[in-house]
Amino acid sequence: MNIMARIIPVLILLASLSGWAQDVQRFPPPDFESGYTFPMTQTPAPRGVVMSYVDIAVLFAALSLASYFSIHKRNRQGVFYLTIFSLLYFGFYREGCICAIGAIQNVTLALFDPNYSLPLAAVAFFLLPLFFTLFFGRVFCAGVCPLGAIQDLVLIKPMQVPRWLHQALGMLTYVYFGAAVLFAAMGSAFIICKYDPFVSFFRLTGSITVVTLGVCLLIIGMFIGRPYCLYLCPYSVLLKAFGQFSQWRVTVGPGGDCVQCDSCEDACPFNAITKPTPDDAPPPSEVDKKRLVLFSVLAPVVILVAAWAGSFSATPFSQMDYTVRLAERIALEDAGAVEGFIDASQSFRDSGQPAAPLFESARRIREQYVWGGWILGAFLGFVIALKLIWHSVQQTRIAYEADRSDCLACGRCYCSCPLERKRLKQLKSASFV
Ligand code: SF4
Ligand code: SF4
Repeated sequence: MNIMARIIPVLILLASLSGWAQDVQRFPPPDFESGYTFPMTQTPAPRGVVMSYVDIAVLFAALSLASYFSIHKRNRQGVFYLTIFSLLYFGFYREGCICAIGAIQNVTLALFDPNYSLPLAAVAFFLLPLFFTLFFGRVFCAGVCPLGAIQDLVLIKPMQVPRWLHQALGMLTYVYFGAAVLFAAMGSAFIICKYDPFVSFFRLTGSITVVTLGVCLLIIGMFIGRPYCLYLCPYSVLLKAFGQFSQWRVTVGPGGDCVQCDSCEDACPFNAITKPTPDDAPPPSEVDKKRLVLFSVLAPVVILVAAWAGSFSATPFSQMDYTVRLAERIALEDAGAVEGFIDASQSFRDSGQPAAPLFESARRIREQYVWGGWILGAFLGFVIALKLIWHSVQQTRIAYEADRSDCLACGRCYCSCPLERKRLKQLKSASFV
C-alpha cells in the first residue's frame, strides 16, 4: 500500500495535466471576462431517472462501506480502496456531478425560487452524507467524496500546519459557504460549480483559472493534507455541525482507551487530534471567566459590526448577476465610457427592448444584495462570536481524541496507537487458533 500510495498521486497528477494540456489545445476555454455567462449546465447535466437512482444507490452503498471500514472495522486499507473507487465513479465516470458540495446551491435555489424544480439526485446527494454524519461522523469525507479522494491520494509527505493558522484559514469555509448560498438564493450564480478546482480534471476541460487553482491545490496537497477540504469546502460547514452530534465516531485507541503516548497526533495530517488536559493544568481562573463573560456580552456587537461590514459587499457581489452586469454595460455604452458592444449588449440592443426596465431590475437586485450582505455579514459575525466563546471555555479531556467536527474518519491514526496494534495482534493470533 505504501508503494501504491506514492505511485497513485503522481499518476493522477500526470494524467490530469496531460489530459488538460491536450484539451486546452483542442478546445480553447471561453473568455469569461467579456460578459459571457455560464449556461445552466452548471446545474447537474440531465441524466435518466433510472441512472439517477443508480447514482443514489451507489452513494448509499459507498457511505455504508465507509462507515463499516472506518468505524466498525477500523480498517484504513478498506477506506483507501473505497477512496479509489469513489474517485473513479463519482469523479471520473460521473465527472464530479452531481456532488454533495454543489447540491448546497440546488437546495438553496429551490428554497428561494418556487419555479426551480429540484432534482431528486440533488436532494439525495445533499442529505445522505449529512444523515450518515449524524450516526458515524464524516465518513463521506473519509472515502466517498471525489474531491476529498483526489486530494487524499496525492498526500505523500504531510506537514502539520500551526494550529493558529489552521483555525484562521478554516474561517474561509464559512465565507465561501455564505457567499455560495447568497449567490444561489439570488439566482445569480452557482459559484461552487464555477470554481470547483478538481472538476476540470474529471472532465478534462475547464478554464485556465480553475485548472491552475486545481493544480496548485494538488501540489500544496502533497504536503498539506487536503487543503480544499480544510480551508475552502463549503459543505464542510454542514458536516462539521452535524459531526458534533454523531452517535458513533472515530476513537483513536480501541474503545476510546488511551496511553497518552501522543503518536496519533503526528499520524493525523488534518490537525484533527485534540490533546488531553494536562494533569497540572490550573483550574479556570478569574481572568478566564471574565474573558468568557466579555465575549458573550460582545457577541451581539460582533454580529452587528460584521453585518454592517457585509452590507458593503452589495456592489461587488451584485456584479455576479447577469442582469446587473448587462445593465452596467449598457449604461457605460450609452454614456460613451466604453467603446463598441459586447455580445450580450449587442443582442439586448437587437431585441429592441427599452433600457429602463433593465435598469430597474438591476437596481432591485442590487437592493436585495444589500440585504443579502447584511445577512451574510451577520452569519460570519455569529460564527466568529461563537468561536471566541467556544475557545474561551476550558475543555477538559482525559485522552487524545479525534475532534468530532474536524476528523475526516480516514483511519490513518488507528495503527499509530500501540493499543490498536496490540488488539490487531491478538485478533491475528486468535484467527490462527
Ligand atoms: S471536506 Fe468537502 S471536499 Fe473534502 S471530502 Fe468532505 S465534502 Fe468533500
Ligand atoms: S481518522 Fe484519525 S488520522 Fe484520520 S482525520 Fe480522524 S483523527 Fe485524523
